[in-house]
Amino acid sequence: MEKTCTEVWNSCLQIIKDNIPNQSFKTWFEPISALKLEGKVLTIQVPSLFFYEWLEEHYVGLLRKTVKKQLGDEGRLEYNIVVDKSSNTGSPYTTNMPSNGNGAEAKTQSMPIPVSINKDIKNPFIIPGLKKLNVDPQLNPNYTFDNYIEGDCNRLARSAGYAVAAKPGGTSFNPLMIYGGVGLGKTHLAQAIGNEIKRSVPDKLVIYVSCEKFCQQFVDSLKNNTINDFVNFYQAMDVIIMDDVHNFAGKEKTQDIFFHIFNHLHQSGKQIILTSDKAPKDLAGLEERLLSRFKWGLSADLQVPDLETRVAILKKKMYADGIELPGEVIEYVAHNIDNNVRELEGAMVSLLAQSTLNKKDIDLALAKQMLKNFIKNTSKEISMEYIQKLVCEYFEVPVEMVKSQTRKREIVQARQISMYLSKSHTKSSLKTIGAFFGGRDHSTVIYACQTVEDLIETDKKFKAYVNDIQKKLKMS
Ligand code: ADP
Ligand code: MG
Repeated sequence: MEKTCTEVWNSCLQIIKDNIPNQSFKTWFEPISALKLEGKVLTIQVPSLFFYEWLEEHYVGLLRKTVKKQLGDEGRLEYNIVVDKSSNTGSPYTTNMPSNGNGAEAKTQSMPIPVSINKDIKNPFIIPGLKKLNVDPQLNPNYTFDNYIEGDCNRLARSAGYAVAAKPGGTSFNPLMIYGGVGLGKTHLAQAIGNEIKRSVPDKLVIYVSCEKFCQQFVDSLKNNTINDFVNFYQAMDVIIMDDVHNFAGKEKTQDIFFHIFNHLHQSGKQIILTSDKAPKDLAGLEERLLSRFKWGLSADLQVPDLETRVAILKKKMYADGIELPGEVIEYVAHNIDNNVRELEGAMVSLLAQSTLNKKDIDLALAKQMLKNFIKNTSKEISMEYIQKLVCEYFEVPVEMVKSQTRKREIVQARQISMYLSKSHTKSSLKTIGAFFGGRDHSTVIYACQTVEDLIETDKKFKAYVNDIQKKLKMS
């Protein structure tokens, strides 16, 4: 008596089950059903193209062996792939493909597989039902290009992002990889691209997902046996924004899945946007084949913004929040918090919070006091440049004048105090100090120090000036 396709397939499953982990069996083999047996050709139905690819990649050897065991050497395997479940004809669109593992020679494996597609569908990769899906892109609407300040630190990444937003999938920046240290604006920029695409073409299916969340979703889908839905969902997107891909490190299975999703999206001209804390070449713990794809498009880095950009970011942020702060306070914050934008914003927020609590306006002294905890404890080395700036600000004289030859009384005073403070607060030699303040020699510095000390003794007002400035020096 001839065996039915189900009997043959069940016998295959028995063997397969004994040869792979239980979870893999559940994930990849339980959703398969036997469709038909014609002569020596067994056709099994798999729930998606992705399933087919996955089985062929990971289990082709095992499948070949078991099929041959059941049907003899001529045994062949064919897949019937469900392309669209949601068709209104009642039965799903499907397509058939032979297994690569059928031939005895391994060579045939690299041959392109002819795809026989149901004539009714032009492109089996479009899932018509999903197009109508209303997917929440998971974007934060506050992250836009409008409030993303441009500076030397981000010019390339920003303009590449802009180009991608204008033509998702249509530039050579695919994938676009934005990388840089923590708090430098990767998430903001990546989301700005997504928001811009949604704004100009609301129909586009855009999804923002952190790598961590993606990994979690993958684990959940394994647990719930919904891996196919998981993959289908991401493969149906027009734009995927994956944040912090360095978190893929060590997660081989999730990388494997993402590799397939990546390929699928890339082949169908969909846009992929990635962020990472390192350049692709420095990413450790990622599979080579995934890394090499990350390098296909453009990698653009974000640098620490310069002072001017930091000031601009703070001003923009304040404007957006309807807050006003004195210019010198903004300068102070921007000057002292110089390693990342998130801290910059954090400092300002805590400043505002404290001023609201204390019902006090924020002036420079208050800002300094409040930000003490924010600014790195390691007290900054005081430079002659800084002393000069402080003294000149205090006496309201232009910095260039101090270095000039002028003998105007207030300038001489500023110059002498600067020299005196440089001697007591820096490790610079008399010679270096003299050279710095307008190319004077060391005896001028000695004379200046002497003069200042004498005046402190005799002139109360002068003494108060010097104390004031010294206090400011210590506060910075
Ligand atoms: P990352 O993802 O690189 O850690 P984020 O994108 O979360 O950094 O940025 C941290 C904060 O700094 C966010 O609030 C963001 O809006 C802000 N930010 C970063 N760069 C800029 C910029 N160029 N212009 C305006 N805000 C910025
Ligand atoms: Mg981020």
